[in-house]
Amino acid sequence: MPLDFMTKIDRYYAIKMPCEPCRSTVDVLVSPPKRGKRDVICQRCGQFIRTITKKELKQFKSFYMEEKDMGLTVKEPEGGSGGDRTPIPEGLHKAICYAIYDLGTQINEWQGQTKQQHQVMFCWEFPDIRIDYEKDGKQLNGPRVLSRKFTLSLHEKAALRKMLQSWRGKSFTRDELAGFDIKNVLGVGAQLQIIHSTPKDVTYANIENVLPPAANYGKPENPLTFFSFEDGGDIPDECPEWIADIIMNSKEWDEVPADVDVDTPKDDEEDLPF
Ligand SMILES: [Zn+2]
Repeated sequence: MPLDFMTKIDRYYAIKMPCEPCRSTVDVLVSPPKRGKRDVICQRCGQFIRTITKKELKQFKSFYMEEKDMGLTVKEPEGGSGGDRTPIPEGLHKAICYAIYDLGTQINEWQGQTKQQHQVMFCWEFPDIRIDYEKDGKQLNGPRVLSRKFTLSLHEKAALRKMLQSWRGKSFTRDELAGFDIKNVLGVGAQLQIIHSTPKDVTYANIENVLPPAANYGKPENPLTFFSFEDGGDIPDECPEWIADIIMNSKEWDEVPADVDVDTPKDDEEDLPF
C-alpha cells in the first residue's frame, strides 16, 4: 500500500492514495461518513476517487499504526473523553447544553442480560472550565465539555425524566409530558454536579445531577447541534467521531433513507423553555 501518512483534521482524514487522472499517488481527503461511507477526493485534481467504509478506514488506521515504528509520521488526534486531560473537578459547575444526539436503538449488556434500549446523548459545555487546543494549525481556547447517555423514556422511574425534572426544578404535568420535545432543552443553561469515580486507576468525571441554572448563561460557544432519526438527515458534521460511531451502530441507522435535509434548531431561547 503506497500510503505514507494519515492525519485527521476535524472529521476529515488526509491520506495518500493513487489517483488515476493524476497518474500518481497524491494527497486525498476522506470526508466524514454519510450513510456509513466516506467519499475520497483527490486534493490535486479534485476528482472523486471512491468511497471507503468504516471497516476499510480501520484497516488503513491499523496499517499506519504498524508503520509508525518504521519511522513514518502518524498523527491522530481523537475527540471524546480520552487523552491525558485532567477530569472536570468535582462540584457544581455552570454549564450549557449545546448538543443532543438520538443514538437510536442500542444493544446493551447489563448484569448478564442483553437489552435493546433507545438512547439519547446530552452534551454540555462548561463556560468557566477552559482548555487550550490546536485545530487546523491554530491555537484556540474553548470550554471543556462532558456528555451523558440516557434511555429515551419519560416513564416516572426513568433517569431521563428525573434529570429533566431536576433541571427545570419541577415535575411534569400529564399535558407537558405528552407534548414534551427533547429539542426544547438545546441551548439551555444548567448547573451540573460532577462526582468522580475511579474504576481502574483512571478518574472519570460523571454528571451526577443536573440542576436549574443560577442565572442566564447566554448562548453556548459550540454550535447548537441536534440529531434525531425522527427528523431524519445525516449525522451533523459537528458530531464527534466517537458519538457518530455509536449512532452508526444503532438498529435505525441502516433503515434511514438517504438524502434527507436536516433542519437546524433555533437558538434564540432565553428562559427555560420546558
Ligand atoms: Zn487526482
